Amino acid sequence: MIILLFGPPGCGKGTQGAVITQALGVPAISTGEIFRAELKAGTPLGNAAKEIMASGGLVGDDIVNAMVSGRLHQPDCRNGFLLDGYPRTIAQAQFLDGLLKELGQPEPEILYLEVPDDVLVARLTSRRQCPVCGKIYNLLSQPPQREGVCDADGAALIQREDDQESVIRARLKAYSEQTGPLVDYYSGRKFHRIDGNRRPEEIQKDIDRLIAPALSERRQES
Ligand code: AMP
Repeated sequence: MIILLFGPPGCGKGTQGAVITQALGVPAISTGEIFRAELKAGTPLGNAAKEIMASGGLVGDDIVNAMVSGRLHQPDCRNGFLLDGYPRTIAQAQFLDGLLKELGQPEPEILYLEVPDDVLVARLTSRRQCPVCGKIYNLLSQPPQREGVCDADGAALIQREDDQESVIRARLKAYSEQTGPLVDYYSGRKFHRIDGNRRPEEIQKDIDRLIAPALSERRQES
């Protein structure tokens, strides 16, 4: 099963993506996470994306498409994968359609998590992440057991630089101008709208129903 997790920054893609990929045993591919890792490692790709990410804009389509193509050609993607944060423009969506055909993969299931802007801003400003394992926390709704420290590995939690309010507003603007039109692009396909303004467990129940066929296939195989 190919899943596109789609929705504005802060809609819960990271949290839900982790649950889905664990259940299905497929890789989660987050273009934002790849850029952050490249940036941390100081690679040319990371340096090219640095300024754009800091301002809340989108990295150029050619760069992102080439990066995703390289990743999806890896053997661990053969039995399916989840994309988080890609595609984000019509050009990326068209590129992905061609790439999935080339790879002989089925039509993607598109899960669209809808959340109002004011809720997104509140969520993003209180979001914290573990720099070691990537686990995401929210100081309001999902705080760590011990303040400022990851439950899983004890690392000090950090706030992403682009989770500051001015950058968040720019990211939401980039989303509504460049990514919003994808709702029309994907309408009529396997497009599922999900109310993302609920507790993670409730959202998960909806998602479980949608991925149930792939889950039972996986159980039969093992
Ligand atoms: P995210 O963690 O998905 O919010 O991504 C963080 C940042 O990485 C975004 O604000 C963009 O600057 C960049 N980025 C991630 N994915 C893409 C993409 N598909 N197209 C363009 N830029 C991206």
